[in-house]
Amino acid sequence: MPSDPHAGPSKPAALPLPPMSWNAWGDPALAKPLSEDIKALLEQLLGVTPQEGAAPTADEVLLRPSALTAQDLAALAAIVGPDAVSAEDADRLPRAGGKSTPDLLRRRSREEQDAPDAVVLPGTEEEIAAVLAYCSERRIAVVPFGGGTSVVGGLDPVRAGFDAVLSLDLRRFDALSDLDEVSGEATLGAGLTGPQAEQLLAARGFELGHYPQSFRFATIGGFAATRSSGQDSAGHGRFDDMVRGLRVVTPAGVLDLGRGPASAAGPDLRQLFVGSEGTLGVITSVRLRVHPVPAVKIHEAWSFPDFATGAAALRAVEQQGAGPTVLRLSDETETGVNLAMTAKIGGSQITSGCLAVTVYEGTGEQTAARHRLTRQTLLDAGGTPLGEEPARAWEHGRFDAPYLRDALLDCGALCETLETAANWSDLARLKDAVTAALQGALQAGGTTSLVMCHISHVYPTGASLYFTVLGAQQGDPIAQWQAAKSAAGDAIMANGGTITHHHAVGTDHRPWMPQEIGELGAAVLRAVKATVDPAGILNPGKLIP
Ligand SMILES: Cc1cc2nc3c(=O)[nH]c(=O)nc-3n(C[C@H](O)[C@H](O)[C@H](O)COP(=O)(O)OP(=O)(O)OC[C@H]3O[C@@H](n4cnc5c(N)ncnc54)[C@H](O)[C@@H]3O)c2cc1C
Repeated sequence: MPSDPHAGPSKPAALPLPPMSWNAWGDPALAKPLSEDIKALLEQLLGVTPQEGAAPTADEVLLRPSALTAQDLAALAAIVGPDAVSAEDADRLPRAGGKSTPDLLRRRSREEQDAPDAVVLPGTEEEIAAVLAYCSERRIAVVPFGGGTSVVGGLDPVRAGFDAVLSLDLRRFDALSDLDEVSGEATLGAGLTGPQAEQLLAARGFELGHYPQSFRFATIGGFAATRSSGQDSAGHGRFDDMVRGLRVVTPAGVLDLGRGPASAAGPDLRQLFVGSEGTLGVITSVRLRVHPVPAVKIHEAWSFPDFATGAAALRAVEQQGAGPTVLRLSDETETGVNLAMTAKIGGSQITSGCLAVTVYEGTGEQTAARHRLTRQTLLDAGGTPLGEEPARAWEHGRFDAPYLRDALLDCGALCETLETAANWSDLARLKDAVTAALQGALQAGGTTSLVMCHISHVYPTGASLYFTVLGAQQGDPIAQWQAAKSAAGDAIMANGGTITHHHAVGTDHRPWMPQEIGELGAAVLRAVKATVDPAGILNPGKLIP
């Protein structure tokens, strides 16, 4: 089996997959080293200097030996075929975790690293069911693997008393199996990446419109399993809004959920499995709302004198209804840093304040009407239009920013993001509290930091806040970040926020789940898990407290 999870699988994928680094974001060919000027600025402002010691190459990484026996591997091979199971280090390493900063820092360690004991690539639901039955019997934990872009520890090989851990890679579920053009519904395989899904739909004149920053690598099953939110959510909604139905293989049987456009047949069980992060079942296909490829696209950027004015403007737009497809606002710090990095946002028109981006999509006159209405609202709320170029530049580079994090880590910076959401009435307090918590925790360890924030998703009643933290690595950078993250999590819970708006729970947010859903809520989740996964093999240690 190939070592790169995005290289050719045991059966050719329908569409080519881009390569994904095992120890960094994305395609190694697209890595973006920092200029000497930026490095000098980082050293001057934040004391960022290169760290001692070279990171290991893939061949030098020391992986914990596989705990699976030859008998286990033979049994798994009998289910999925010998080409679709591997216990080779080269196949285990790329599935050892996700792509959070702690994940990437762990990959740089020369100490022994943990990884799943083997990888399987089932091709049918029957094979998944048989793998789950074998693992339940043999006490082997199973971690469903989509694109491998989790940033919350969702793919960590948590052993939790099990004899071994298996990574179950969904990439062979890669078909557009149905497109109902009349109703606007498509059934997509869980293993399709964002670009693959859009390519298949575009060939038939349709679009899903789900564009998270991880779009190029994350999968349909992963989007569903984590309640992902894309950058076009103001127009197309979150991924959970798009889900009309889904199929889930559990150790107790298969669920096929979702009938008709809407239903009053009791609680919506689809929403129990959307966001279940591989702990309740393996999602094999998702039936999704799709729309015709938009005929028209309008871009416009705005400047606001400060974050409070900009946030009030976004709220006014969202509360009046039917506005832009994309609507985001950077705070003063993020706008300033983006200006320093690119020096071209709006040319001479913006030197301070807060940058907002709007994009409108749809048919001709309807799109123009939404643009006119939103434009007037933003003008009335104190915005200054900057023209289309900064919004087009944002769209053009929107999937590239994660490469910058690798360059920052390489030169000794600590860089990570976190997100939350709250009602509009709590938003300013939440932003201040999280910023202070992050800066305070890092300062206590002697690190000066820069905390940037933007509103990434908007709703009539509130919005999400997305924070990016930048400082110098000092001592153990994983411990450094954990202290900051822990302080931020507590500040979120104390100030009306949710522990996660779209990154999901995984291992990292699990400590806050009792506060998020209450002890009784946690007991409900445990009861569901006991029903569908009696042996508890599915992704232990994640989501459910
Ligand atoms: C640089 C970067 C930017 C990001 N930007 C965004 C963003 O804009 N919006 C956003 O919402 N998220 C974002 N994320 C987070 C991440 O991309 C999402 O959580 C994504 O939905 C995960 O999809 P995946 O296919 O990579 O899943 P994986 O990372 O492979 O898995 C994530 C979790 O889902 C489970 N899982 C995966 N597939 C299945 C399946 N078929 N059945 C059952 N369980 C499954 C896994 O076990 C794991 O617990 C970003 C991450 C990175 C690294």
